[in-house]
Amino acid sequence: MKYLVVNAPNFPLSNSSILIEPVDALTIATWIQHNHNDVSFIDLDRFGLDAINDLAANYKVALVVFDYLIALYSSEGVNHLGSLFSALAKRAEYILFVGRIATYFPYEVLDKFPEVYGCIIGEPEVVLADLFKYKDLRLLKNNPQIITRESKLDGSKLFSNNKGINIYDLFPKFGPIANRKLCQFDKYIDVHSIIASRGCSGRCKFCSTGGYLGNWKAASPELVLSEIKHLINLGTHKIIFLDDNFSNDQNRITKICEMIIQEKIDITWGCLCRIIDLNEDIIQQMHKAGCRWIHFGIEHDQQTRLKLGKNFSDEDAIRIIQFAQKIGVRIRTSWILDLLEATANSVKNTFELAKIISSYEIKLHFLALRPGSKYYDQVKFPKSIFNNNNVNEIFIHKGSPFNTSSKELELSIVNQFEKFKLEMCDIGYQWVPDARFWDKFNNREALPNEKFFSTSIMRYGLGWVR
Ligand code: SF4
Repeated sequence: MKYLVVNAPNFPLSNSSILIEPVDALTIATWIQHNHNDVSFIDLDRFGLDAINDLAANYKVALVVFDYLIALYSSEGVNHLGSLFSALAKRAEYILFVGRIATYFPYEVLDKFPEVYGCIIGEPEVVLADLFKYKDLRLLKNNPQIITRESKLDGSKLFSNNKGINIYDLFPKFGPIANRKLCQFDKYIDVHSIIASRGCSGRCKFCSTGGYLGNWKAASPELVLSEIKHLINLGTHKIIFLDDNFSNDQNRITKICEMIIQEKIDITWGCLCRIIDLNEDIIQQMHKAGCRWIHFGIEHDQQTRLKLGKNFSDEDAIRIIQFAQKIGVRIRTSWILDLLEATANSVKNTFELAKIISSYEIKLHFLALRPGSKYYDQVKFPKSIFNNNNVNEIFIHKGSPFNTSSKELELSIVNQFEKFKLEMCDIGYQWVPDARFWDKFNNREALPNEKFFSTSIMRYGLGWVR
């Protein structure tokens, strides 16, 4: 059975200076391969829609991945899916759509695009595991996790996050989780990614991770180590773990670090963690194992943060981050300025806290109402993906305040933000206006003490010194 996995293009295409191979789409392709199928992979966000002309024309199933585990896409990307599906229809018998849009808006997608046979709900690997039970794909037609035009399901019962199945338990013990030999590995930047856990035990109000992927589940430390070695064999020495929450299980972190140290694996790596999960001892051990970068979501001032379900104090954040930076771990903090609970005063406190913490990288966000989050359910706005003037609100990196917040608050945020920008530039931070800023790092490494801040997409792997 011939399968094709397509990483859909963004619009405009994502800047190649920040692009890492799309590990989520590659994982799906690898899973298909592990199940003894013939699979091809193409990343149209890297190579553009025309690259489709180089493909064969006889695939049984094409899976189109859009906004799955990597949140790079914009609302404009949605508007260009039509040309992708038309081009694919000439090459594949069945087109299946995968990711968050497929999961939360399947009937709209099917109405809009006649070429799409079905939308996969939730994690596609789990659904495919079911599909592979029969060689003739008979479950394509009546799998409850694939919405087709014939589906009899009640729309209100659409979503289930695959009953907590841990996809990593289904993978071979030594992977790979994402076979990079399926992609043109040398066409991406020098830091490469692993996603070795999914979901989160937290339920921060703005975040869709728990809603979409369920409770936290992870690959074993042995599988993680074999994935690291897979990348090293391809010449990589910088790895970013793009798990939404790498730090959920401290014993697992310790085990992974011990294995890296024992086997003398020569890498620098980064990951996304929670303040509540880490202490000085764990950070020290992570540093010893090559960790040179951690992302922490601080989000807003303490009072507002506690209302979101993020249970740590400003003091905890300051202590942990200052310790990490002192021993040589670069920190990126992320902040959401226009939370639903935000006030002019909370925004002022937030900027003050960001200045006190002074992480080397500061990512400022404007609120995105991600389907699957509590906020998404809470806010009254058109909940559709097509013909919706507010659709931009559901995508991250949109670069402007939340459309329906009060105009007074919006003005206050904008004014305070401009002041913050000037102050940070005065103390040596570089403002990143858009992703083209990172082009200069295609030819040089950042210094370990270079500092950046932005509302735009930020590059990984800069200033990580062994
Ligand atoms: S923001 Fe982070 S900690 Fe909170 S639910 Fe999402 S992944 Fe978990």
